[in-house]
Amino acid sequence: MTALLPHEQSLTACAQAIAAGEVTAETVTRAALDRIEAQNPLLNAYLHVDSAVALQQARAVDLARVAGKELGPLAGVPVSVKDLIAVQGMPLTAGSRILQGYTPPRDATVVERLRTAGAVLLGKTNLDEFAMGSSNESSAFGPARNPWNTQRVPGGSSGGAAAAVAAGLGVAALGTDTGGSIRQPAALCGIVGLKPSYGRVSRLGVVAYASSLDQVGPMTRTVRDAARLLQVIGGPDPGDATCDLRALPDLEANLDQGVAGLRVGVPHEFLDGAEGLDPAVRSRVDAALQALQGRGATLVPVALPHTRHTLATYYLIATAEASANLARYDGVRFGRRTEARPGDGIDDLYARTRGEGFGTEVKRRILLGTFALSAGYRDAWYEKACRVRRLIHDDFERAWQTCDVLAGPTSPVVAWKLGEFVQDPLAMYLMDVFTLGVNLAGLPALSVPVGLHPDGLPVGLQLIGRPFDEATLLRAGATVEADAGTLEPPETPDASDRRPA
Ligand code: GLN
Repeated sequence: MTALLPHEQSLTACAQAIAAGEVTAETVTRAALDRIEAQNPLLNAYLHVDSAVALQQARAVDLARVAGKELGPLAGVPVSVKDLIAVQGMPLTAGSRILQGYTPPRDATVVERLRTAGAVLLGKTNLDEFAMGSSNESSAFGPARNPWNTQRVPGGSSGGAAAAVAAGLGVAALGTDTGGSIRQPAALCGIVGLKPSYGRVSRLGVVAYASSLDQVGPMTRTVRDAARLLQVIGGPDPGDATCDLRALPDLEANLDQGVAGLRVGVPHEFLDGAEGLDPAVRSRVDAALQALQGRGATLVPVALPHTRHTLATYYLIATAEASANLARYDGVRFGRRTEARPGDGIDDLYARTRGEGFGTEVKRRILLGTFALSAGYRDAWYEKACRVRRLIHDDFERAWQTCDVLAGPTSPVVAWKLGEFVQDPLAMYLMDVFTLGVNLAGLPALSVPVGLHPDGLPVGLQLIGRPFDEATLLRAGATVEADAGTLEPPETPDASDRRPA
């Protein structure tokens, strides 16, 4: 692919160059659209692109600048939106056939805020169906591909968003994270992904997967970009009762202050005690931890003893909530409805619409969740999981007595081959072992690239913060980035396994 221009390499540089009149928003938007046209047929990162509307938005920014109007913080920056989030005038699929034909009547709050900040909305990115998955392969529209190696998965569920940002098909993206769906694809595609604290960002207009876990967040090329994007989308929203009332602090104010004196907890369960951790991933993570120490941070060993229960706990709670949330797709209210057959009753209509509309993974989760909530089993499964969730939360609370942030790998492995785990959902669920606890405890967490695996694929470091302390998290992330550097976007994506000589 043609090298990214300087103003395309970060949201911050892009906004600055446009505001200074060094480049027009239209030029930047055209460059992104050209790259989408050239690469999306292979990457399948976008499910919907609206070039005409994007160019119109870009020209409006250029006109406003020439007229001397004050520009928003994202004026002219081309961004994408995960197709789980409502954008007025664009179809919303959630990666599912069941929403076929559905176009939401209004913007999600986060999208409204992007528009107010002047961002140019390029389109909607690919995802696992209803955000259920870790590889993008459960999308009804085929998987997105990893731009570092197109035979590999981009991660999931926000795989399209991660692939798009890594390949320069847009400068930044909005993703969602229920159990790792921002951080893990960010790690697998070599970009930055920030899952904010539960309640930090409005979910009005965001399709619900598991309501006690879901959060919207930035996927960007740099840590500063993530801070700026969260600054725009985060903060109280009267339209979402689960959105916290605390105002966001200035997230960029202390970004460059370094980590001297910061206590970085290293959970035993994420490194020495972790099963299935690729040694080459481990060595990148160790190097990043050493670098933090070199900058004056103190590494503190900590224990998160209930980590071994996170997978079971998450998959009970997430599927239980999903089974309730997805009950609304009944063929009557949204999207697709099956052809009525003579003699069909309303129950047949529901059953056949859902049978045809949902894919295998979604059905599996609805069945699991319905079982976990059903009379006679609810106590043993769902309610027990809720009690274990509290223990997982308390592990983190104890860690905060001795540390300011926690650090470890985002994913135990780098991007795997397309199809590798499709027949083995449990093996795929196990890939989420380091990210799930964060959602169960409602914490903010960040994935930052820390270099390449010998296979030529990116490795991500996960940093976890105290509730609502995104500022410290981002400051630590900026320090990691200063040492590890950002990853250059891959050249022309090809389908070969690239091993550096
Ligand atoms: N992979 C996890 C799941 O399938 C997390 C997905 C997400 O965060 N949306 O549930």
